[in-house]
Amino acid sequence: MRTQPAARPSAGRRVWRNWAGTATATPARWSRPRREAEISAAVKEAAAAGLTVRALGSGHSFTAAAATSGVALDLSSWTGITAADTASGLVTARSGTTLRALNAELGGLGLAMANLGDIDVQTLAGALSTGTHGTGARLGGLATQVEALELVLADGSVVTCSASSRPELFAAARVGLGALGVISAVTLRCVPSFTLLADERPMPVDEVLERFDELAAANDHFEFYWFPYGRQALVKRNNRLTGHDAELGTAVPPALPAWRRFWEFEVMENAGFGTLCRLGRARPRLIPALNRFSSAALSTRTYTDTSHRVFVTPRRVRFAESEYAVPRESLGQVVTELRRAVPRLHDPVMFPVEVRVAAADDIWLSTGYGRESAYVAIHQYTGLPYQEYFDRFESIVAEVAGRPHWGKLHSLDSGRLRSLYPRFDEFRRVRAEVDPEGRFGNAYLTRVLGPHDL
Ligand SMILES: Cc1cc2nc3c(=O)[nH]c(=O)nc-3n(C[C@H](O)[C@H](O)[C@H](O)COP(=O)(O)OP(=O)(O)OC[C@H]3O[C@@H](n4cnc5c(N)ncnc54)[C@H](O)[C@@H]3O)c2cc1C
Repeated sequence: MRTQPAARPSAGRRVWRNWAGTATATPARWSRPRREAEISAAVKEAAAAGLTVRALGSGHSFTAAAATSGVALDLSSWTGITAADTASGLVTARSGTTLRALNAELGGLGLAMANLGDIDVQTLAGALSTGTHGTGARLGGLATQVEALELVLADGSVVTCSASSRPELFAAARVGLGALGVISAVTLRCVPSFTLLADERPMPVDEVLERFDELAAANDHFEFYWFPYGRQALVKRNNRLTGHDAELGTAVPPALPAWRRFWEFEVMENAGFGTLCRLGRARPRLIPALNRFSSAALSTRTYTDTSHRVFVTPRRVRFAESEYAVPRESLGQVVTELRRAVPRLHDPVMFPVEVRVAAADDIWLSTGYGRESAYVAIHQYTGLPYQEYFDRFESIVAEVAGRPHWGKLHSLDSGRLRSLYPRFDEFRRVRAEVDPEGRFGNAYLTRVLGPHDL
């Protein structure tokens, strides 16, 4: 797998860098709009100057999806909920709102997102644009929770799209890679606030694979991860508490006390794991043993909490990541081959592999388009070599028509992606209609969508 070469920063100009350090860029201009009219004006001014435009999220994509040598639109001052109907759950938020701020505001309204990924620092539009997802066999990615989008197009006009108004633009723009325009507002269908019962416990990887369908079907949110040299997985089952469960009262475990959250999430999973990673980076030959040690230390934890406090955990140890969606029924093959491949790699792997599930959806460039998916995510600690590992992983998932997460490292180009997405050419047609000059283009889009002209 060849990754996007990081642009060489030009002297004296402000540099954009992503969280993982896998992409940098030097925009010609920065713009920080505070009103929708300022987003339109920035797009028009870019056109007048012959520059391209990219909206920035929180920089949490591992790919250079947001990188630009043109105008970088920083939407961090374009935040907050602008309308909410608590009866229907329809909530409209400005696109630069982080998921963390959104979760807090929704909580105040007695509402929540039905499903979330692992972290909450992404912006709403940034998370949607690359197809960010959580886990749950009956649930799709975040974009499936969108009811309508407002976009600033290449000519500076503002349009709204939904299932009933400009449905093709809506099918394309919910996972739009920033290629169709600047999303200015998102209307989400939220659900009443809910509590999750979290159950995390070790289980042999072989048993998880044998019981995979049963575990995915029996739990609202099921996932597992394992350290590649270990035999134990950590199985996470998060289930919604119903009124009936609440009546059981004492049978339901309480929320983790603040000291235990701090100890387990901050000290053990971040500071402690970070120390092991630094040790592994300094002495790579120790990595398989450290990995087995981490695997043996997996322990049971059950608690209840507000949904987003269960879905989201802090991630302070930096890493590189690749993730592919594979047809659910191919998961066993992929995991088995990956377990065989890792011990043969030249450079050992320090980080666990994570497996999640999602329902099929109808969003053109969603990794879940038209098929039930299992997501397999591989990681390597920052500063350790990952190319051979990620290449090997790509060759394994290629056999089962794996689709890469748009925000995570992969080497596929438009030729291969066209064969993986039945609506790929329709996406390109809609793009050509709304952005005929490629105002929102960048090098990543040229690779994954192909040249702009049809
Ligand atoms: C530690 C970590 C944990 C993660 N966990 C998960 C996970 O659990 N599940 C998952 O699926 N992914 C996960 N990711 C990936 C992450 O969710 C995506 O890469 C997401 O796109 C990052 O959002 P962002 O706000 O940082 O956007 P950026 O990475 O800054 O941008 C992403 C894309 O969105 C575009 N964009 C941003 N704003 C707009 C806008 N207003 N209009 C149009 N386009 C726009 C950008 O131009 C770019 O193309 C994780 C990443 C990290 C680093």
